[in-house]
Amino acid sequence: MARIFCIANQKGGVGKTTTTVNLAAGLASIGQRVLMVDLDPQGNATMGSGIDKRQLQLSVYDVLLESASVAEARVKSEKCGYDVLGANRELAGAEVELVEVERRERRLKAALQAADADYDFVLIDCPPSLSMLTLNGLCSAHGVIVPMQCEYFALEGLTDLVNTIKQVHANLNKDLQIIGLLRVMFDPRITLQQQVSDQLKDHFGDKVFDTVIPRNVRLAEAPSYGLPGVVFDPAAKGSHAYVAFAEEMVERIRKL
Ligand code: ADP
Ligand code: MG
Repeated sequence: MARIFCIANQKGGVGKTTTTVNLAAGLASIGQRVLMVDLDPQGNATMGSGIDKRQLQLSVYDVLLESASVAEARVKSEKCGYDVLGANRELAGAEVELVEVERRERRLKAALQAADADYDFVLIDCPPSLSMLTLNGLCSAHGVIVPMQCEYFALEGLTDLVNTIKQVHANLNKDLQIIGLLRVMFDPRITLQQQVSDQLKDHFGDKVFDTVIPRNVRLAEAPSYGLPGVVFDPAAKGSHAYVAFAEEMVERIRKL
């Protein structure tokens, strides 16, 4: 059975896409079968996996509108070692088109069920909003991975997301839980980041992943080569951290 995780945080620029593609590549590098689903119309996770979003024949948009199956719409990223259900700007229209349809928040879940046997992990890169697209992600998933920067307003920003997850858990998907908070772009020299990190651990305990992703320029450069950092420069500090995170995820889901 595939374990399905959303990488979500309603803030933009917090490291969702970087986490999705690098965790996907990290899991693939330790022998896991992975599908990466891009649910953001910006298509950054698609491009960052070496798939040109402008050349997609079929995308997650077609899957949400039930005009294609996952098996038909996915593409293999040969360089990255995982499959991609890509997205492009067309996906922005799905938000409106789905308003009219039945079970609109469960479209992705139904589609992923048909591909369940093909994967160990499905990772869903969510857009920076709590929209119908994100809701489709949350309804499909067993858990949510929340990347966050250890900044002053970090805890405050979590409240909306935690409330949304609680509501989805209560009304739509009783499997859903927060798997963990991932500290990203971490710079230990900054005292404030250390303090916020300690606060996070006090507040959320073992919901905070042990792995910490450092701020690392190689991770930021990799997308311009259409690759996750883990593939672009496996020796970089940030890449090591994401592979360690992949190992931590494998360990965590054994205990779920
Ligand atoms: P989101 O998907 O949440 O909008 P991104 O993953 O696109 O966030 O990250 C936002 C920016 O920060 C990107 O330019 C990305 O390359 C950069 N970035 C993400 N993680 C790191 C990191 N650990 N070190 C350095 N830069 C990073
Ligand atoms: Mg993103």
